[in-house]
Amino acid sequence: MQKLKLAIQKKGRLSDESIKLINECDISFPTSSGKLVTAAYDFPIELLFLRDDDIPDYVQDGVADIGIVGENVLVESDKKVEEVKKMGFGKCRLSLAVPRTMNFNSADDLSGKSIATSYPKILQNYLDKNNIHAEIHIISGSVEIAPSIGLADAICDIVSTGSTLLSNGLKEVEQIFQSEAILIKNKSLSTEKQEILQQLLFRLEAVKRAQKNKYILLNAPNESLDKIISLLPGISSPTVQALAKEGWSSVHSVITEHDFWEKIQQLKEAGAEGILVMPIEKLIY
Ligand code: ATP
Ligand code: ZN
Repeated sequence: MQKLKLAIQKKGRLSDESIKLINECDISFPTSSGKLVTAAYDFPIELLFLRDDDIPDYVQDGVADIGIVGENVLVESDKKVEEVKKMGFGKCRLSLAVPRTMNFNSADDLSGKSIATSYPKILQNYLDKNNIHAEIHIISGSVEIAPSIGLADAICDIVSTGSTLLSNGLKEVEQIFQSEAILIKNKSLSTEKQEILQQLLFRLEAVKRAQKNKYILLNAPNESLDKIISLLPGISSPTVQALAKEGWSSVHSVITEHDFWEKIQQLKEAGAEGILVMPIEKLIY
């Protein structure tokens, strides 16, 4: 039987989240084997641990079938692969930054200037789109020191908190690209591998949905039941059972995370008591 080869970052910001997600899909593999390739025990998948910059290339060439990589790395690599889905982690932004003392009104101010970056393609796309002519200096690391050593007038780099910029006397002036980890796949997967991918996606969906939802259990006086049920649309209608205590019922449902606290407040105001909220491991429709 064929195995689907999944490339993930060996060591870095995407590694832990990638492995956690795979484990949450109930796929386990030997940890700390130190090997570059390892097969899962309980799912037809093989993991390849690579540098993130190599992942688009390997997936394009079919050395790996699928991979998890930052959108920034994929766009910069310009490789021909298919994007399957956004993973919801590894979020970051690519921004332009200039010395704090520079009077900056708009990106047009960078015309004729030089910009240091490790992301020349993404930057060039942005400059072209905005019709700005600037010189790009490609450097592979410590981009933020470029202005202070006189290498460039501005930089384009990944920003998370902005504290690195601040300590180098820079200010963020324009966000040019939003990124998160994405799952990519080779353009010509065999039918068998495509089927394994579908199974993996099915599990990933169930895990993701579960993370967004909570299981809720509460006691409600019968006269408030209608009101309480109307507050709990859930994925299907709530389960209602009579309690031993006369005139009371137990209500079970699933609620989404985004308006969680608001919902709890409304339920309390409607007369709900003994509200119990539990995490969901998997949620399958
Ligand atoms: P490798 O050794 O694999 O080449 P790297 O040093 O190039 O690793 P990391 O710093 O581990 O890469 O970042 C991996 C990806 O994580 C980035 O390409 C980006 O998509 C994402 N990311 C999320 N937040 C940040 C951040 N604050 N700084 C840098 N990258 C981030
Ligand atoms: Zn890298």
